[in-house]
Amino acid sequence: MSRKFFVGGNWKMNGTKKVADDLLANLIKGPLDPNVDVLIGVPSLYLDYVKEKVPSNILVSAQNCYKVEKGAFTGEVSPAMLKDIGIDWVILGHSERRQIFQESDELIADKVKHALESGLSVVACIGETLEEREAGRTECVVAKQIAAIKEKICNWDNVVVAYEPVWAIGTGKTASPQQAQEVHKVLRKWLADEVSEAVSQSTRIIYGGSVTGANSKEIAKESDIDGFLVGGASLKPEFVDIVNAKK
Ligand code: PEP
Repeated sequence: MSRKFFVGGNWKMNGTKKVADDLLANLIKGPLDPNVDVLIGVPSLYLDYVKEKVPSNILVSAQNCYKVEKGAFTGEVSPAMLKDIGIDWVILGHSERRQIFQESDELIADKVKHALESGLSVVACIGETLEEREAGRTECVVAKQIAAIKEKICNWDNVVVAYEPVWAIGTGKTASPQQAQEVHKVLRKWLADEVSEAVSQSTRIIYGGSVTGANSKEIAKESDIDGFLVGGASLKPEFVDIVNAKK
């Protein structure tokens, strides 16, 4: 089965309206490969602003949301609110949420479940730390993270899995294409064994961790790598080259 290539840019807590305008202008200039799903993860405060200006070929995503619809959860944003302003995507489980904000596998799985039930599509992030990789625990860590999500959801149609080794995020240390492919293959087999062959074949598994215009072409050649989640380089003109890595 052919899976449509998917490239997400995670702006994190960066930018202003002016910066958003410049980033959008760069994407509009493109040109972007029409065979790629392109998503931008925008700070909550600017979602509405960006949504009003973005062309229809670019998906706009939140970077987080909470696990219930409404209530006394100061500072949080719900999937219902995102849908209300026309946002259809959310990035969940990013390693910065896991590490800095202490989000557990269980909380992330609850968020994924509620987001899907609310009609959002989800980029669900998983990945091991350097310590875990060096201890030979990469496969069991990512299996545990994805298993927590599997426990709570029964439909994977609207899920993109992002494998992001924590040691490669924002560090300039990219996993080699072979290192990334190895884990993607393990994840695809895990989906086949634990969910179904059909889900394994149809679910996009994208790679994140210091992806640049320069290294994206090589990584994109790997058979189980269906795209990228990009942090730093999504704030630069080279994001267009990453979108076009398959061309
Ligand atoms: C990320 O934050 O998801 C990421 C992969 O960041 P960077 O591309 O900067 O490593």
